[in-house]
Amino acid sequence: MRPEILFSMFEHVTRLPGVGPRVGALIEKVAGPNIIDLCLHLPSGLVDRSYRPMVAAAEAGRIATLEVQTFEHRPGSGRRPFRVLAGDDTGEIDLVFFHARPDWIAKQLPLGEKRIISGVVERFQGRAQMAHPDYITVVGGEDALPMHEPVYPMTAGLAPKTLRKAVDAAIEQAKDLPEWLDAPLKAERGWADWRAALAASHKPRGRADLEHDAKPRERLAYDELLANQLALALIRSRRTRGVGRELPLSNERLGAALSALPFKLTIGQTQALSEILGDMKSGKRMQRLLQGDVGSGKTVVAFLAALAAVEAGGQAALMAPTDVLARQHARTLTALGAKIGVTVDVLTGRDKGKARQAKLMALAEGATNVLIGTHALFQNDVGFKDLALIIVDEQHRFGVDQRMALAAKGLAPHLLSMTATPIPRTLMLTAYGDMDHVSIPDKPPGRQDIKTVVTPLSRMDEVIGGVQRAMTKGDRVYWICPLVEESETSDLAAAEDRADDLRRILGDGIALAHGQMKATDRDAAMASFASGEAKVLVATTVVEVGVDVPAATVIVIEHAERFGLAQLHQLRGRVGRGDKASFCVLLRADGVTESAKARLLAISNTNDGFKIAEEDLRLRGAGEVLGTRQSGLPDFRIADLETQADLVAIARRDVDVILANDPDLSSPRGEALRVLLYLFERDAAARYARIG
Ligand code: ADP
Ligand code: MG
Repeated sequence: MRPEILFSMFEHVTRLPGVGPRVGALIEKVAGPNIIDLCLHLPSGLVDRSYRPMVAAAEAGRIATLEVQTFEHRPGSGRRPFRVLAGDDTGEIDLVFFHARPDWIAKQLPLGEKRIISGVVERFQGRAQMAHPDYITVVGGEDALPMHEPVYPMTAGLAPKTLRKAVDAAIEQAKDLPEWLDAPLKAERGWADWRAALAASHKPRGRADLEHDAKPRERLAYDELLANQLALALIRSRRTRGVGRELPLSNERLGAALSALPFKLTIGQTQALSEILGDMKSGKRMQRLLQGDVGSGKTVVAFLAALAAVEAGGQAALMAPTDVLARQHARTLTALGAKIGVTVDVLTGRDKGKARQAKLMALAEGATNVLIGTHALFQNDVGFKDLALIIVDEQHRFGVDQRMALAAKGLAPHLLSMTATPIPRTLMLTAYGDMDHVSIPDKPPGRQDIKTVVTPLSRMDEVIGGVQRAMTKGDRVYWICPLVEESETSDLAAAEDRADDLRRILGDGIALAHGQMKATDRDAAMASFASGEAKVLVATTVVEVGVDVPAATVIVIEHAERFGLAQLHQLRGRVGRGDKASFCVLLRADGVTESAKARLLAISNTNDGFKIAEEDLRLRGAGEVLGTRQSGLPDFRIADLETQADLVAIARRDVDVILANDPDLSSPRGEALRVLLYLFERDAAARYARIG
């Protein structure tokens, strides 16, 4: 239950004075439904009224606060505005009012009296003027005139003044909350109490106060990150305290599998595997993310982990994002499984009718040990005999819901997620902080760095010449066609046209694969490329993830500027899988911007997926990199992951200490932290703490 101290802040904004249903709806749109949302709606700019020149010196275009005496009222007529002539010892200024009520003006700016006015100064035909001053007060009444006014992110129809008043009223409602910060950290950072920090962040006095590192804002950002890290840690600890099935893998079985492999595991693979097997026999439920750059060999590690499930009489499911990939995994793993007595099957949306029934039967009876597939795996009629391990390949392609639907098919099955999208540490902590992770830092021996060049499309002829040379050497070439957003059909046309062009120039041996093709045709195309019957595969991005054809040495990517960096890196990872030198040609449009050129250059300069991911994060922001909706990446409203990575790390360490000393959050600080969780609406996590 939400602590009582927060009740008033979680009331709807219409409970604030002066906020009716209409304004309430607008506020809800721009800030959120509750009073607390308004409190956390921080200013994005400010109006500075501290400029107080004499009239003659007032610069046009600036907001000025002037002390003037009125000396004439000139009523308007028709479309002509009402003018109040005023001035000081140095000069004159006209105060201009359109559609003004004369009696209102007479009251506000009586003839011959002094007033303080504040607003934007303009010059019109040599005369200074101010249209509709923002403020008019009597001399000595300056208190009513704020020198600095916050400017808030707005929505159409909501007046700035209305929003400002509502925010002020909201802050008024905010309570002093018990301190959840670590006292030494708070002192070292020079942070104020929560309520004071909140109030101060709404009172910027200069640009610097709007920056992320302004003290009041920084404190609020840290609070937000601390809530995030604490919530994730609570979820993690609840899970690991939860019982999981003990699935030890015997040395005999592991040894047999290792000797059936055509290669030796790399050190990175061995270490990752041993962590994973450690989880699986621990008696706790595994939830681990396995990271490794493209080509680092994650699949075989996952398969060896599956043996632990199989040995205990259970089953494993491997979920892949595409049909192509599921079938590729099935091909390699079926062959490996056959050598060591493990039955592997594949199930995708393409399996229909009798064949599908037969597969489902084998699965339900336990005759299938490892089932590989796509989304089809979590459909209702798919029933495992005993699902003990779920492996999710390219996990960022799946939503949390999909993983949960699959998990519901087993009794608290272990979960291993895999990703080749290197996740910068900051994102790792904030988006996947509830998972354990391990990475494969190395690659199988003999892999060569891929040489990447950027070339304008106008030099396509030379590139085709290069493709021809590669073909005559017996090498294979991917040709990736432009990604046209929101238009799968023109995507397709581009790919078909390109395949025709290449056939005209290079002759036979050009296969075409795209998303709109009948699945069997696409498989046939991929298979002919894999076998070498076709030397060139023209494709849309269907080959993006995980496709493995070691003989491919060249990849050409048309309109490379249209792809994200991480995606280009993934695509590039299709080559360089054998021991021959490999090339990636990024064909860019001729007129691309300098920044697009710089991006492409960045990727041609490094093969390090992590560096590229960091760059991608910097250029596109976290949501884009992970695909916010799917990744479960929280939307931070105050913290800024790009510049406040250090705070994330501090929060993480802070939380480790908190939970080591006070796992149930029952100390006074623990109680305060509970309030923090509810403040940032981490209610579920806060309840976990209570249940333990
Ligand atoms: P990814 O991590 O990108 O999913 P894969 O699992 O598809 O990589 O592996 C890429 C290729 O490397 C496959 O052909 C696989 O058989 C091969 N491979 C995996 N591990 C090793 C190893 N230790 N030595 C040599 N080749 C390996
Ligand atoms: Mg893979």
